[in-house]
Amino acid sequence: GRQDIDLKNYIRHIPDFPKPGILFYDISTLMRNPDAWQIAMGRLTRQIAPLQPDMLAAVESRGFLTAAPIADRMGCGMLMLRKSGKLPGQTISHTYDLEYGSDTLEIQADAVKPGQRVVVMDDLLATGGTLAASIELLRKAGAEVVGASVLVELTGLGGRSKLDTTVTSLLSYE
Ligand code: 5GP
Repeated sequence: GRQDIDLKNYIRHIPDFPKPGILFYDISTLMRNPDAWQIAMGRLTRQIAPLQPDMLAAVESRGFLTAAPIADRMGCGMLMLRKSGKLPGQTISHTYDLEYGSDTLEIQADAVKPGQRVVVMDDLLATGGTLAASIELLRKAGAEVVGASVLVELTGLGGRSKLDTTVTSLLSYE
């Protein structure tokens, strides 16, 4: 039946994107199939529900795609973690190192109430740099981070070990 669907068949692998030598895991082929996308969102919701979040934090930009339908299914709120300069009003920012250079993520200063339970969401976990920075930023803003959730985890890069919270993923690749 429908629930036996292997969601890995809907993830497309694109070599040499965005740079030569990088294999890109493309979730747009999963999103384009209504059955596969609905099943994926249902399974992610069931992974996250036991963490009992008050809010989902969505990492720009593909984290927005999974967090919004899941927040709606769970009846919890959501917030955006964005690149610098995109969010209106007072913000808190966190700058983190990349392989070459650095990047900054921001959150609205009043996005979480102190101690609110937050699960942070992105499409994919690779080195863990993005989610580790997201978790630090959420803590600066007063959140209790109770988990990190991704659709796809690339286990060979050890990203999970950089995250001091419960990590769940739907599909994992060596
Ligand atoms: P990390 O910080 O864990 O090394 O990389 C994860 C971040 O880069 C996520 O925000 C994710 O959207 C993006 N990313 C890196 N590689 C891929 C990939 O192969 N596919 C997709 N969809 N996103 C990727």
